[in-house]
Amino acid sequence: MAGALNPTLSDVLLVVDVQNDFCPGGSLAVPHGDEVVPVINRLAARFANIVLTQDWHPRGHGSFASSHPGRKPYDIVTLPYGEQILWPDHCVQGTSGAAFHQELEVPRAALVLRKGFRPEIDSYSAFFENDRKTPTGLTGYLRERGFTRVFLAGLAFDFCVRFSAEDAHRGGFAVSVIEDACRGIDVNGSVAATRRALADIGAQVIASDEIV
Ligand SMILES: [Zn+2]
Repeated sequence: MAGALNPTLSDVLLVVDVQNDFCPGGSLAVPHGDEVVPVINRLAARFANIVLTQDWHPRGHGSFASSHPGRKPYDIVTLPYGEQILWPDHCVQGTSGAAFHQELEVPRAALVLRKGFRPEIDSYSAFFENDRKTPTGLTGYLRERGFTRVFLAGLAFDFCVRFSAEDAHRGGFAVSVIEDACRGIDVNGSVAATRRALADIGAQVIASDEIV
């Protein structure tokens, strides 16, 4: 292995959106999304500090194609805060699609951060909604807990993991993305764009077996 990393008390594992709708059979399935579950379960035993995020939309959310007459999923529209890809309805509050994958086992998680609950604005990032200005509160939580490095895992690599990594960097945290603990959707080259974006911010991209 490239280098053995031993998570410390100033490290936090951020597990992004490992929910039924993002797994095979779900309404916005990430190909092979469920394959991250055993990887994350193993990682979760290595970290003392873990935060889970949960995409959590009200019915009729502004990111749903069904909320825009004449539009279909993956169309791009301009909303007041900028361009937004329209998605199939997904992760509706309280539905089984919004629940975590049933085999996800992360008992040490101390916080479940829900995002995307404002009807008119989407939130890919765990730190800021898609206007890049409205905070979720996660930066403050991580700072108050004294964490300095954020390790990321989950779904989807090229959307919620990517934007969370960028905002973690923006918030002053060191960033490591555990690549085999993520899977991507790959819309219009978004996986390649994510690799470039991670390189641009100097994020460490590692494999889960480097964490011991
Ligand atoms: Zn969503």
